[in-house]
Amino acid sequence: MKVEAVHTHILDHALDTTFESASMHFARRQHCLVEIVCDDGTIGWGECLGPAKLNAAVVQAYATALIGQDPLQTEKIWLELYNRLRDQGQRGLTVTALSGIDIALWDVKGKHFGVPVSTLLGGRFRDSVKAYATGSFKREGVDRVEDIAREVAGYRKEGFHAVKIKIGFDVEEDLRVIEAVREAIGPDLRMMIDANHGYDALEAVEVGQRAARFGIDWFEEPVLPEHVSAYGAVRAGQPIPVAGGETWHGRYAMQDPLSTRAVDIVQPDICGVGGFTEIRRVADMAALHGVRLVPHAWGTAVCLAASLQFMAAMLPNPPRRNPIEPILEFDRTENPFRQAVVETPIEHSKGVVTIPDAPGLGITINREALERFALKEA
Ligand code: CA
Repeated sequence: MKVEAVHTHILDHALDTTFESASMHFARRQHCLVEIVCDDGTIGWGECLGPAKLNAAVVQAYATALIGQDPLQTEKIWLELYNRLRDQGQRGLTVTALSGIDIALWDVKGKHFGVPVSTLLGGRFRDSVKAYATGSFKREGVDRVEDIAREVAGYRKEGFHAVKIKIGFDVEEDLRVIEAVREAIGPDLRMMIDANHGYDALEAVEVGQRAARFGIDWFEEPVLPEHVSAYGAVRAGQPIPVAGGETWHGRYAMQDPLSTRAVDIVQPDICGVGGFTEIRRVADMAALHGVRLVPHAWGTAVCLAASLQFMAAMLPNPPRRNPIEPILEFDRTENPFRQAVVETPIEHSKGVVTIPDAPGLGITINREALERFALKEA
């Protein structure tokens, strides 16, 4: 069995309403899918986290080294590709592009053996997971206090057990948003806050101290991801558990934050951290240091499917009769191709998502949707 071709699909949608996090402005949704075609007709799919066009360019740069290889040799391929760009790579796009390739190879491998990827990873501990809703971005014409409280209350009605809201814009306004959301959703719904590294350490400590009384499960990316020791300062200076890790790509980027326990919860994204091959290593590292792992997910149903296969096989830590279950990040922002790219959408039912059990990632790609949402510009 050999890899015959590597295709990238850049999906694009111009948003009706632009939105922003503390660090990014979104006028379009763009994601990069990776398609690996093998000489026996098996096709695998993967997805890369981050800028779609740049990811596609790096995937294509790797492709020459991938064609002709045995797709079942996932460790060997991962190492060879990583080594090719190591000296100027190590983290960032070189690893996010590699992630999409690795996921597609594991999809091929699952299809080849006729089992879901979770079986290849050692088996399933669960067949479904609870999802949490991510939304509440800043939008033009939207009142960040009243409208966001109303939006988040809607997620409660849909059946979600938890919501994550966006802060990191302005300390006083963010605190008003947090208070209004807690008031709108009542005391029981779990709530997380995500600053998208919009604060410095002093601001983050202040927000954490003043927001803690509203019952917050975690405080995500309070400060810049490069400032690992500042995460420690935020942990030490306020009572809310600190989370982060969506930009720490690869095990080497994870080493410092985990070994110093800079975060209480680490959030690798399978489409960014290096695919199945690398996220398993990161999961072991997190377990060794007693850091909880909750995957990050921001993409299409391909990203959700890959995340779910990994989550199915996540070891309960600690193992006990009613273990702590991983929860799936479920993006609620506008993205018409998120589910359209697959024949059977990966949707939630009252906040619970079933983990597909067909071979590979367990999904069938809708090629018509890939064409419909293909990036049109040159
Ligand atoms: Ca985040």
